[in-house]
Amino acid sequence: MMHKKLFIPGPTEVRQDILDAQAEKMIGHRMKAFTELYTGIIKTLHELLETDKFITVLTASGTAFMEGGIRNCVNKDLLCCVNGAFSERWFKIAKQCDRDPDAITLDWGKAIKPEMVEAKLKEKKYEALTLAHNETSTGVRNPIEEIAEVMKKYPEVLFLVDTVSSLMGDKIEIDKLGIDVCLASSQKAFALPPGLAVCAVSDKALEKAKTVKGRGQYCDFVGLKDYFDKKGQTPSTPAISLMYAMNKQLGKIKQEGMEKRYKRHVEMAKYVQEWGKKNFSMFSEPGYESVTVSCMNNTKGISIADLNGELGKRGFAISNGYGKLKEQAFRIAHMGDLTLDEVKELIANINEILKL
Ligand SMILES: *Cc1c(COP(=O)(O)O)cnc(C)c1O
Repeated sequence: MMHKKLFIPGPTEVRQDILDAQAEKMIGHRMKAFTELYTGIIKTLHELLETDKFITVLTASGTAFMEGGIRNCVNKDLLCCVNGAFSERWFKIAKQCDRDPDAITLDWGKAIKPEMVEAKLKEKKYEALTLAHNETSTGVRNPIEEIAEVMKKYPEVLFLVDTVSSLMGDKIEIDKLGIDVCLASSQKAFALPPGLAVCAVSDKALEKAKTVKGRGQYCDFVGLKDYFDKKGQTPSTPAISLMYAMNKQLGKIKQEGMEKRYKRHVEMAKYVQEWGKKNFSMFSEPGYESVTVSCMNNTKGISIADLNGELGKRGFAISNGYGKLKEQAFRIAHMGDLTLDEVKELIANINEILKL
């Protein structure tokens, strides 16, 4: 079957050399070779993300750390910013973990503003705030820089941020923004296969975790750090093949350089969004468009499924609208290792199919 190049917001396109890296001979996860592999990965992540916060990579999808963030950092009261499917997931997880979340709930497509956060934080004492930096379901980039300024006035409120679809594609200064828990998945802008979740945890969050009961086992920040400090490994068996791929990919990202990587993402986003505005309209609030995924309104009333079918024959895949937005909107992801030329090729094919 012909491969469809993935312009969907996860899993993203993975280059062949990275896929091949997974075929290395197996090693034991308690061997020195693994310690070297894993500590090397963590060291490179510290360099690329310019933070010395505790960083852990677990065999899981990003959702594991959404749950982990709640279970480690919150006894009861938290505030969830909800403006799409993934930010809503965090609210639901908090409930499922028997916590007591309040929410700032906006219509899909709207961005969370700093004033909204400040108004709620003034009203009530919260232990944490959850925010999806980049709402993949709507193509909205929440103004994290401005929200971080508000958070600095409330240092007792931990800042938990889902950067699943933005880390490694959009510039996120974890330390400068004062993010306490910053989580991501391998299958988005990292351009790796699914299966690894990355999480950076502040000292403040680690100190808080020590006082929170029922942190569980798999994502226990305190246990993970303890084990890493002692052994340079993860407490349970990791997906070693994926770690090989991650190690190789982080080397390639370092070679490209983060600033260049960010710039490439901005260029791809600009191209798609200019096209999107000209031929359709953007679903996301103006001024808050994501740099990794663009969500367009289906103003022409075309069949998105048919369009994707035609694109499939030509070796491309895009995304329909998420959940309730199916056929009402569609998404083109431009994240990971995709280039502007590849994005242009996709758009040219869409233009041809739709006779735009
Ligand atoms: C994909 C995505 C998730 C879910 O990540 P998984 O790795 O599938 O658990 C969460 N949040 C955002 C913003 C996402 O894009």
